[in-house]
Amino acid sequence: MPYPVTLIPGDGIGPEVSSAARRAVDATGVKIEWDTVELNSDTILKTGQSLPQHVIDSLERTRVGLKGPVTTPIGGGFASVNVALRKRLDLFANVRPVRSLPGVVTRFQDVKIDMVIFRENTEDLYSGLEHEVVRDVVTSLKVITRVASIRIAEYAFGFASMVGRKKVTAIHKANIMKLADGLFLRCCREVAAQHPDIEYKELIVDNASMQLVMRPETFDVLLLPNLYGDIVSDLAAGLVGGLGVVPGANMGENHAVFEAVHGSAPDIAGKGIANPTAMMLSSVMMLLHLKEPAAADRLRNAVEKVYAERTRLTPDVGGTASTSEFTDAVIAAMK
Ligand code: NAD
Repeated sequence: MPYPVTLIPGDGIGPEVSSAARRAVDATGVKIEWDTVELNSDTILKTGQSLPQHVIDSLERTRVGLKGPVTTPIGGGFASVNVALRKRLDLFANVRPVRSLPGVVTRFQDVKIDMVIFRENTEDLYSGLEHEVVRDVVTSLKVITRVASIRIAEYAFGFASMVGRKKVTAIHKANIMKLADGLFLRCCREVAAQHPDIEYKELIVDNASMQLVMRPETFDVLLLPNLYGDIVSDLAAGLVGGLGVVPGANMGENHAVFEAVHGSAPDIAGKGIANPTAMMLSSVMMLLHLKEPAAADRLRNAVEKVYAERTRLTPDVGGTASTSEFTDAVIAAMK
């Protein structure tokens, strides 16, 4: 039986990188029944909804999605489609493995970076609760709850103990946001106490940002509320070659949507030079979720082989290949 998967190409570079990832997944030999659904800024403007019903219907049926980036139309009162999707399906954990790839020239290439970011995905300043108190005075509500904080902490520690990772670092600003980040930290400590075999550390987000640049190799599992998780993910991506290479997964109790960390990259959209690595590595995470570890290994090894050879990389990681030349090379490396 093929696995049903919702494919959301998105917009900007989304259609280019998601069709590359689809080709690579199909080349692993795993049978997928792709249900391709439109979700982009045009559909949003046309339907007047951030999250049209046909997208939800498909994901309710398949329970697994592979998603390209979607541009949120600015102005017009549209909620971010990504935030809406994560909330609607309760995709509470955003998981982003950040690893050095062979052959990528970065400022940190002599350092082995291998960390996994766990970002809470449903609340914090992404609650979308903003209010103009009086003209030119605006408040934005930061919502932190015990339920969501415990849930992401348990997910991060559960992962660490399952795969044998040694250290979890909770990142916060509880010295300033004593109540909100204080609650997040208390929940992290509570869960940490149930995992005495895993080292637990706390870092204030500004210090954490510096430590990530100075000593990235000392980080293992990172545990963050939503906004810090968003910012730190891009910072961490910069350590290993940029947004083109960092994958991600949005995990809920009943659904999982896999997508790259990057956005729709309007500056390079349509030029055929977008790097599909992040989408391919997100597909590796999807194959693992589908319990196809051999196919996941095949795809990951093929990507790493093409990186190690260095001859068919896209411009963002120092090469001259197009999206499709890189994809052809990955598919050839699987044979
Ligand atoms: P971005 O991630 O789209 O791009 C940042 C920079 O990284 C750009 O210079 C871009 O060219 C480069 N880049 C990103 N992905 C790349 C790839 N695969 N290959 C090569 N280069 C790549 O960030 P942005 O410009 O701030 O956001 C653009 C739009 O994307 C915004 O509308 C934003 O709302 C949306 N967005 C969507 C998602 C999502 O759907 N999950 C995530 C982030 C941003």
